Amino acid sequence: MGAAPLLRTPVRPPLPETSAERSATPGPDAGLRVLNPATEEVVATVPAATAADADAAVARAVRAQASWAALPPGDRARLLRRFAVTVDGHLEELARLEVREAGHTIGNARWEAGNVRDLLDYAAGGVERLTGRQIPVPGGLDVTVLEPLGVVGVIAPWNFPLPIAAWGTAPALAAGNAVVLKPAETTPLTALRLAELALTAGLPEGLFQVLPGRGPVAGDALVEHPDVAKIVFTGSTAVGRQVLAKGAARLKRVTLELGGKSPSIVFADADLEAAAAAAPMSFLDNAGQDCCARTRILVHASVHDRFLDLLAPAVESVVVGDPADESTEMGPLISRSQLDRVRSYVDPQAPGIRGKAPEGPGFWFAPTVLTDVDPRARVAVEEVFGPVAVVLPFEDEAEAVRLANDTDYGLSGSIWTRDVGRALRVSQAVRAGNLSVNSHSSVRYWTPFGGFKQSGIGRELGPDALTAFTEPKNVFISTEGPAQ
Ligand code: NAD
Repeated sequence: MGAAPLLRTPVRPPLPETSAERSATPGPDAGLRVLNPATEEVVATVPAATAADADAAVARAVRAQASWAALPPGDRARLLRRFAVTVDGHLEELARLEVREAGHTIGNARWEAGNVRDLLDYAAGGVERLTGRQIPVPGGLDVTVLEPLGVVGVIAPWNFPLPIAAWGTAPALAAGNAVVLKPAETTPLTALRLAELALTAGLPEGLFQVLPGRGPVAGDALVEHPDVAKIVFTGSTAVGRQVLAKGAARLKRVTLELGGKSPSIVFADADLEAAAAAAPMSFLDNAGQDCCARTRILVHASVHDRFLDLLAPAVESVVVGDPADESTEMGPLISRSQLDRVRSYVDPQAPGIRGKAPEGPGFWFAPTVLTDVDPRARVAVEEVFGPVAVVLPFEDEAEAVRLANDTDYGLSGSIWTRDVGRALRVSQAVRAGNLSVNSHSSVRYWTPFGGFKQSGIGRELGPDALTAFTEPKNVFISTEGPAQ
């Protein structure tokens, strides 16, 4: 089979051009200062995109999308696979950048960069398989085709800058859309590098652009823009609500991945050693800045004390420190403001288990498990987004389910039991989008992810990811011939 001629590889990355334009007229507060959260050193200053930059990016995206959607599916798939291969060739560089700008442990950062590659590969595999339907009707042929939406705006948070950028971008591109990605203010660097790698891989200019800027300026401009057909937003529930409300004015398609306050339910018949060994990283991974963090550990009263005895050494021995060190298990929080926010939830005198954290520069907070907590206390109810969990006892299965559901959120949860009937009953009763039994795993790129209740709207990842970036169109073709 002859190789189809692919698009000419553009040599000029889009961002230096716009960055130069922007840096020519910087306002007093124009730049986004990227700090290394482990040292507080300035890693880079990135010009902040204005609303006019957003307009220009969307105009470029509109043009690029029309040619992209017209390409044969096999060519689009091949370009996305090249993008995946290019990311794979730069995994270590991307991971190191993620460590510096987000403070992620190097082990996590490598997984995250690999996740971007895998998402692109998976989405590329869906391009030729994005088929419509033919539905039997009298008097003709009825076909349903799935058309791309057009331009998609992806607004990403700082907690997983690389994967979450790709969760929206990869399937949107595969379904024939263009993407304008607005990364979080604190973490624009990996996203900017991804856009350069897209061009290196041969993706057409304008198809995938990164717009580093402030949420209420650049993010809002995408939400308000009439040529942005869909917004994929990940972040706080408060801003998610604003995005949905503003999008409603134009009936914009919106996917929201918001917060969580996820339970881990430990029944008396569970493998307590395994549950306690797994518990620390279920809320300390990424320093707890994880919407799936299991921050409410519900434990049957009969095994509560034994579980705490097992949990204490596991939490105390978590290695917190330099995220670039291969042996580090937990790094710093993202910023001073996040550190202040986490501190506001924890009374230093409150009973519980404390791990260790470095002193000195950096946004450090020690692993913390609070016991004897009122289930209605702020720390037991609100998303802390830091390395803090509470342990709450329960008396029976009904109370466990009631406590698990006693939250505005519904993203994730874990059930620890050896009783398969109980595992099934409780997984049916807990109102959350992603549950795991005898495990804390929540995210795989080939299974759907998203939240119930205030945790969001819509699903990402999984076999239907591409369909979420399409508009079904039904066409009836009469076989009766034109009326005479
Ligand atoms: P945020 O919701 O303010 O920011 C998320 C993204 O939205 C960023 O890119 C931001 O620039 C953008 N944004 C902000 N205001 C906007 C607006 N008006 N219009 C369009 N885009 C806008 O979140 P944050 O302030 O970075 O974090 C605050 C809290 O949110 C955290 O402590 C945590 O509880 C939660 N959070 C949750 C997640 C998650 O994965 N669910 C991710 C980040 C933060």
